[in-house]
Amino acid sequence: MSIEIKNLSYVYMQNTPFEKKALNNVNITFNDGEFIALIGHTGSGKSTLIQHINGLLKPTEGQVIIDNVDIFSKEVKLTEIRKEVGLVFQYPEYQLFEETIEKDIAFGPKNLGLNDEDVLQRVKKSMQIVGLDYDTYKEVSPFELSGGQKRRVAIAGVVAMEPKVLILDEPTAGLDPHGRDEILGRIKDLHNEYNMTIILVSHSMEDVAKIADKIFVMSNGECCLNGTPREVFKEVEILEQVGLGVPQVTYLIRELNKKGFDLPEDIYTIDQAKEVLSKLLLK
Ligand code: ADP
Repeated sequence: MSIEIKNLSYVYMQNTPFEKKALNNVNITFNDGEFIALIGHTGSGKSTLIQHINGLLKPTEGQVIIDNVDIFSKEVKLTEIRKEVGLVFQYPEYQLFEETIEKDIAFGPKNLGLNDEDVLQRVKKSMQIVGLDYDTYKEVSPFELSGGQKRRVAIAGVVAMEPKVLILDEPTAGLDPHGRDEILGRIKDLHNEYNMTIILVSHSMEDVAKIADKIFVMSNGECCLNGTPREVFKEVEILEQVGLGVPQVTYLIRELNKKGFDLPEDIYTIDQAKEVLSKLLLK
């Protein structure tokens, strides 16, 4: 599913003293099957933007075009769009409510009108993909789980709807490093196995450097930069101006070069750094 955002502007509480322009003429295209990272400082407009993609917010101006159809045109039912575009909110575990994990994950697919057998298959498959064994966890209350596990249940609930596009708003927020790696790994698996388009909202350069095909940088309601991680992390000045900077390991390499080393400057993951530094040590 290709997603084209055209001249999109959004104003909260328009025509009141609290009026706030959150998006200003955004033009972006997300291609089918891409792993996209949307990054930017708090308040830069990321959440506002993603809520337009599944029709939760309606543009003040502009269009959202999914597979060549303007989703806000009269002919389109937004309930249909929401089946295709799944949105995992920040801290989704607060939305868990059923007494067992199985029932919680089954809620969405049941609402799609699937029969019991199909619902069961969806639950099993999505639990597997988020790394929760069905037989071990199906009867467990979601409230007995650790923070990272709860979040995995919440993500499984959206995955079980089998959307073509999955948007995740800060899915690693508040997790410890192990929980973060676990969730990011699962999201990467989802992308590989289902070939879903993934839009990951994050403010962690380290997280997005590892997994995104493309990065879109938001600042002040505008998309100020986009490209592959390599292209985006070259723009250190722009990233610093918008309060982001590059991954810590990229700064480390730059500092080493200032001290006379001659290392490639397009290093932005720990693994890449490990490789160049171990070559250096072996010299
Ligand atoms: P981000 O997700 O990047 O943190 P948001 O899209 O949440 O950014 O916010 C963009 C701007 O819109 C911010 O200035 C924020 O204060 C404002 N904003 C967000 N939600 C609301 C709201 N419900 N009412 C009024 N202003 C809002």
